[in-house]
Amino acid sequence: MTEINRVIENAVKLFTELIAVQKQYAGKIKVPQLSFSEDEITRHNEAGEVFLNLRLPFYDAALCSELREEICRVIKKHRPEMAFRIEEINSYLSENPGIFEEFLLKDRNLPLKDGVPNNDQELLGFVVYQTMRPLLHKYAAAIQPCLKPEEWLRDYCPVCGEKANFSYLRKEDGKRVLVCPMCGTEWLYRYLACSWCGNYNHKSIKYFEVAEFPAYEVYLCESCHGYLKTFNGKKGIEHEDWLLEDIKTLTLDMLALKEGYTRTGQKLLQ
Ligand SMILES: [Zn+2]
Ligand SMILES: [Zn+2]
Repeated sequence: MTEINRVIENAVKLFTELIAVQKQYAGKIKVPQLSFSEDEITRHNEAGEVFLNLRLPFYDAALCSELREEICRVIKKHRPEMAFRIEEINSYLSENPGIFEEFLLKDRNLPLKDGVPNNDQELLGFVVYQTMRPLLHKYAAAIQPCLKPEEWLRDYCPVCGEKANFSYLRKEDGKRVLVCPMCGTEWLYRYLACSWCGNYNHKSIKYFEVAEFPAYEVYLCESCHGYLKTFNGKKGIEHEDWLLEDIKTLTLDMLALKEGYTRTGQKLLQ
């Protein structure tokens, strides 16, 4: 097995179990009915204010701490070489539970934490991100009636503000849909535009395909050198959960990175 295939196989195993734990916890999270004033809905639609900045979800600290333990257990199981670091991060988060609310309040960008080694800051961010995903999925589901995903058309998630790191072309009409890696919300976006920098000059957007992944196109932006993988639903090929699709197609990321293109977003714990 090649190195990249080994990395993908390990990442798929890890994320399959993380997703299963997150789904199990999502069933336990209660999000009260949310309502927004007319003024808030206008701010959302016209000024692009995301719902999470208008109203934070109700947050159950005890449940969150249980889930954090589970997330750390799963990571340790699949990355035994990281066991010590994960245990340290788990204890740190147990002593500093305010970080989870801070994560919601500060646009998902945690400042560097004192008392956490520099090379573990990213890992800490990963644990917090994975712990908060089910809460934000439930929050997004509760907000569905207020959403207009066909009209949003911006390059960030209407619910939580996260940038999409994946897109697909809708089977029915070929329209392009961006997918939020954090809360799972989907919304329409221009077909040939870069969701990292907003560039829509057709001449500076290209894409490549690879025979091994016939359902995929990788869009490349010459303006910001960002890339985005796009699943073409019109090719009639089945797909899994988008997060797992993203991981299974890591080879495409490697090719784009090799050509000097980048994307931000979730780390795969390679
Ligand atoms: Zn989102
Ligand atoms: Zn761009």
